Amino acid sequence: MSAMLEVEGLEVFYGASQALFGVNLQVREGEVVALMGRNGMGKTTTIHAICRILPVRAGSIRFDGRDLTGLPSYRAARLGIGLVPEGRRCFPNLTVTENLTAAARPGEWTLARVREFFPRLAERSGQFASTLSGGEQQMLAIGRALMTNPRLLVLDEATEGLAPVIRREIWQAIGALRGEGLSILLVDKTLAEILPLADNCVIVERGRDVWLGAPGEITEQVEQDYLGL
Ligand code: ATP
Repeated sequence: MSAMLEVEGLEVFYGASQALFGVNLQVREGEVVALMGRNGMGKTTTIHAICRILPVRAGSIRFDGRDLTGLPSYRAARLGIGLVPEGRRCFPNLTVTENLTAAARPGEWTLARVREFFPRLAERSGQFASTLSGGEQQMLAIGRALMTNPRLLVLDEATEGLAPVIRREIWQAIGALRGEGLSILLVDKTLAEILPLADNCVIVERGRDVWLGAPGEITEQVEQDYLGL
């Protein structure tokens, strides 16, 4: 069976500067895949190409058997790729509810369901997003992506810069989504948090995938070579 998302030989440039030199990865239905690697190795660039925010110079991106490579980002979103961007960018001058409904598309994730999933968002419904804490903004960013009823949720450093207790809450929420069978591609650097959650890890190094396997198979050597500081 072919994977839900199949990325092959992805090459991406910023102007004249090449950032990806042939990244390969797959996400199967219901699978959680962690894209890992040190700073600046190409994780965000890879997911921005998948979400069609960045142009692809070579290689291919197939989603549900469809070639996404030349499509604009709104088409990728409509086909079912929901991005939770790095830095949890919400509309600061819209309320929580307005943020959630702005991108809504029909499906099982409704405003009521998102409020039930993140009760803190229900409590903050009428507040401007700019007044939320970092953790609440992250919940809002995830809630907003869920409101598009994605088939694949893509999370870029969902817990970066958050306090440990909030990080745990966000990881628990991601674990609950996994439990519901949602397919997830996430970028992160913290192995301990990825371990219980991801089915597979893809490690990138200087714009290439260099290691693929289950998180439990990451040896100290692999960690030292590709993930250490
Ligand atoms: P981080 O963990 O720091 O977010 P990353 O693995 O997500 O890192 P990318 O942001 O994908 O890495 O960056 C990959 C390469 O592309 C780096 O060499 C980076 O300097 C370069 N790069 C990223 N964004 C741009 C940009 N807007 N213009 C030029 N080069 C860029």
